[in-house]
Amino acid sequence: MKLIMLGAPGAGKGTQAKKIAEKYGIVHVSTGDIFRANIKNGTPLGMEAKKYMDAGGLVPDELTVRILLDRVAQDDCKNGYVLDGFPRTIPQAEVLDQELTKLGDKIDYAIDVNVPDEAIVERMGGRRACVKCGATYHIVNIPPKKEGICDVCGSELILRDDDKPETVQKRLDVYHEQTQPLVDFYQKKGVLKEVDGTKQMQEIFDEICGILG
Ligand code: AMP
Repeated sequence: MKLIMLGAPGAGKGTQAKKIAEKYGIVHVSTGDIFRANIKNGTPLGMEAKKYMDAGGLVPDELTVRILLDRVAQDDCKNGYVLDGFPRTIPQAEVLDQELTKLGDKIDYAIDVNVPDEAIVERMGGRRACVKCGATYHIVNIPPKKEGICDVCGSELILRDDDKPETVQKRLDVYHEQTQPLVDFYQKKGVLKEVDGTKQMQEIFDEICGILG
C-alpha cells in the first residue's frame, strides 16, 4: 500500500502517518524528518535545507525529490509506505507519479487532513520537539510527563524555529499557494480522500482505517 498524507503544516498528518505505518506494516517516510536528521548531523544536505526551513519556505524540488526517491527505493519500502510532507508541490507530485508509473506502480490513496488556518496557528504555537530524538508534544493536547523534558529520552523540549508564530504564517501562505493544488491533482486521479482534522486523534484514525480497509 502506498499512501500520501496531505494537509497544512500542523494538521496532524505526521501523527496519523505514524499510526497508519504501525497498523498496516508500512514505512513512515517524512521528508521533514530526513532534513532535520541531516541538520542535526551537520551534513551538506542539512546545511542547504536549513536555510529554507528556518525561513518557512520549501526546500527546492530538485533536492527534495532526490532525497525522497532514494528513500523509497530502499528495501524496507517494498511493502509500501506512507509519505508525510511529500509531495508539497505539483512538480514533486509529477516526478513521483512518473517514477511510480515506470515501476508499474501507483499511489493508492492521498488522504487530506483538513484543518482551518486559525486552528493550525493555535496548535503550532503549543508544539514542542525534543532536541535529541525529535519526539513531538503539545503543551495542551499531548503534554510530556515532566514540563520541558522529553518522555522518550529525557532531553530538553524546544519550540522548533519552523513552529514560531511568524514562521507558521509564512508556512501557511506557502501551503495555500504551492501545496493545496495537490488536492485537485489527486482528486483528478480518483485517489483523494478527505478527513476532518479537527476531530479527536483517534476518531480521525478510525475514519482513515475505514477508508483503507
Ligand atoms: P515538515 O516536518 O513536513 O513540516 O517539514 C519541515 C520543513 O521541511 C518544511 O517547512 C520545508 O521547509 C521542508 N520540507 C519538508 N518536506 C518538503 C518537501 N516535500 N518539499 C520542500 N520542502 C520540504
